[in-house]
Order: sequence, then structure tokens, then C-alpha cells
Amino acid sequence: MNIDSPVIFSPGNRPAINTARPGLPPWTIPAALADFTPMEPIRLFDQFYYVGTRSVGAYLVSTADGLVMIDTGWNETDCALFVAGMKQLGLNPRTIKLILLTHEHIDHYGGVPYLKDNVCPEAKVALSLLGWNYMMTRPIEAAFGEPRPKSIDIFLRDRDQITQGQTTFHVVATPGHTPGCMSFIIPVTENGEHHVVGLMGGVAVPLSWNEAFLYYSSIDYFMGFARRFRCDIGLGTHAAYLEEAMKAVRSRQPSELNPLIIGPQRFESEYLQRYRDQFYSTVNRLPAETVVVSALKK
Ligand SMILES: [Zn+2]
Repeated sequence: MNIDSPVIFSPGNRPAINTARPGLPPWTIPAALADFTPMEPIRLFDQFYYVGTRSVGAYLVSTADGLVMIDTGWNETDCALFVAGMKQLGLNPRTIKLILLTHEHIDHYGGVPYLKDNVCPEAKVALSLLGWNYMMTRPIEAAFGEPRPKSIDIFLRDRDQITQGQTTFHVVATPGHTPGCMSFIIPVTENGEHHVVGLMGGVAVPLSWNEAFLYYSSIDYFMGFARRFRCDIGLGTHAAYLEEAMKAVRSRQPSELNPLIIGPQRFESEYLQRYRDQFYSTVNRLPAETVVVSALKK
């Protein structure tokens, strides 16, 4: 057996659970993700762009061999807006060669069928094998709804290095937000000078102790790679919180520094700390268990 193959031993034979969840209210989009106000498309660094809404967005990296797109939005409507944003930035969406998916949630993969059918049929789609298998096992509901990618071309693995053109994307497995969540380390330039983007794949902390601690461990694991590659820019796929910084990028004078370049120290003390803060604010709302969370605090 080829272990790179998706492990769907019994397609259609999904776990026998009651997806209607009687007695529970139907799943609705969390408030923070329900704001679909478009954000202004923007070039953040020499070859690095953002398109999206206040709910979720996508990054585009222009390489010597086409575009790499990171995440695709909720659905066709969302992704069509992203594509329009790309055109506004002077990017040709048909040149997307690679679509990197951070994880198996619909607000990240939902635009894939639209892109493959209408925009860039030749683009390869990449997701972790764990994420794909997990998604294919989950009932089609809530954050795992449709449209789903029809297939995956590249199954991402921890510490993969994926080169497109001359740009190498370092892949780091950061399970927790979802089992198959992947994060990326991406070299960029700003006025020709080398910088490194660290992009954590998932933000929200699951409401279970096991997954929450897995999430926490992934922050530390990612930090090891961030140190090694000297990440000095921290970005998220839910970029509404970066709106002010993006405005400052747009309005700055040529002589002014790009405010998104925060340096390796602040990458840890501010960017990664946001994820730790997410962990604490979530687990402090979970039912008490035997674990004493305060013991983790420094
Ligand atoms: Zn997610």
C-alpha cells in the first residue's frame, strides 16, 4: 500500500453519528467570521499580496514560475471576490500554479472547486494528508461543509520544502486548530531586502482539552522553525486584525519602514503570543479538569 494515498477504505461508510445533533442549536458562523466586508487588496511586500474580506483572506506569492495562492475563502462568491482583487493588483489569476491550503475548514478550502473549474484548472492543490483524510471522514456539515476540493495533488507533510519558481515554502505541521493544520514559512523581499514571513495556519482553539493542548504544543513547535529561519513578519489568514497595519503599509512614505516587519523578537513576543493568549482565553472557559493551566504561565 502506498501510504501517500488517501486512506478511504470504505467510502460512503461514514461514522454512524447523528449529525442533526438533537437539542443543540444549528451551527452558525462564529461572529468573528461573519463579517464579509471586503478588505482593500494590497501588495504587502515585493512579491507578496493579500486579498480577502474581514472574515478570511488569501495570500498570493508571485514566483519565477507563476503564482502561489494560500487559502481560497468560503465558496465561489468569496473566491470570485479574491480573484477580482488579484486583477485589481495586476496579478493574473490564470497563472496560479499552486494552491496551498492551511487546513481542512471550509473558509480555507471552499474556493478550490471554483478556481479549478473557472480560473486555473492546471493549478495543483496541496493539503496535508491528515487533513484530507479527516475531512473525508467528517460529515458534510458546519465548518467541514461543501464545496470541498474534488482531489488533492500534493499531500503536505511536516518539514516539506516546496519550491515554486525560485521560492521555497517551508511547511510545518501545527495540529490543534484542526488535526491537519499546516503552517508556512515563506521568504519575501521588501525593496529587495530579504525577510521571512511566518504564517500560522489556524487561529481559534478547539473547545476540548486534548486539542487545546495540541494547539499549544504547535505554537512552540512552530517557534523553533521561526527562530531557525528568523521569521520577522507574522501573518494570519484571518487578517481583519491587520487592517490598520495594512492601511499603514499603503500610506507610508517610501523612506518609512514597512510596519508589518516586526523583527524576530516581536515575532515571538507579539505574534506568537497572540496564539498563546487565544489558548488561555479558551481553556479558561472550558470545564475544569485536573490540569492546572496556571502552572504553564511563565
Ligand atoms: Zn479553521
